[in-house]
Amino acid sequence: MPVGALLHIQNIEVIYEKVILAVQDISLSVAPQSIVALLGANGAGKSTTLKAISGLASAQRGEIVDGRIEYQGNDITTTPPATLVERGLVQVLEGRHCFAHLSVEENLLTGGFVHNPSRHKLNQLLESIYHYFPRLKLLRKNLAGYASGGEQQMVAIGRALMSEPTLVLLDEPSMGLAPQIVEEIFTIIKNLRDEQGMSFLVAEQNAGAALRYADYAYILENGRISSEGDAEHINQSEVLLASYLAG
Ligand code: ATP
Repeated sequence: MPVGALLHIQNIEVIYEKVILAVQDISLSVAPQSIVALLGANGAGKSTTLKAISGLASAQRGEIVDGRIEYQGNDITTTPPATLVERGLVQVLEGRHCFAHLSVEENLLTGGFVHNPSRHKLNQLLESIYHYFPRLKLLRKNLAGYASGGEQQMVAIGRALMSEPTLVLLDEPSMGLAPQIVEEIFTIIKNLRDEQGMSFLVAEQNAGAALRYADYAYILENGRISSEGDAEHINQSEVLLASYLAG
């Protein structure tokens, strides 16, 4: 494990249903208080990599057949998702997944019971989420099902933050959203990194937006990492970006 890394994945290989090889030889690291982008086209293996880390791949008959995942210096390769959430590692799934018939605030509260908090603590957590997502405060009594796509994405992120995570795995937060909302969401992520010291591993097809905010980036092609580097450096490499976008 690289010295000081919060998360380190070494040579993992994930197979679905015993036969479908989704990713192979994936190695990556996330430093404390950093935003790391995992970029790639449709089907490149971004979601699989995140689910392998969070333990959710097994729910879809996915299996890590090789490699090792370490978080905060401990082997978590086979640690179940609920235990990881307790230890501060949480995933926000692709597609938002709000409870449409619950209010925005009730949705947030569903994420808040990991550490068996007091009512007072829950209120503090809610206030902190509303500080970063003022829009959610305005909408807190509204049904989440009536919120816009961007607002629902904020609810999904906010719900994950209610567990007071150290590392958040975000799967395609920009999907289907207007550019302005994408910038708003990434700005909040950056603020959470800077002010709360959180780290984010963000899977994205939207390379342009992700690279504007990330510290470091990995590019996935056909289940393998084809390139990596400082986000700034990758941003300048038009050739690389073009080949990735051609997907
Ligand atoms: P997308 O943006 O479309 O979600 P992705 O980069 O996240 O793409 P994955 O969803 O990880 O890619 O898919 C990687 C490969 O694994 C693809 O070939 C996909 O068809 C396959 N795959 C993903 N989930 C499953 C599953 N539950 N069962 C079988 N194969 C799967």
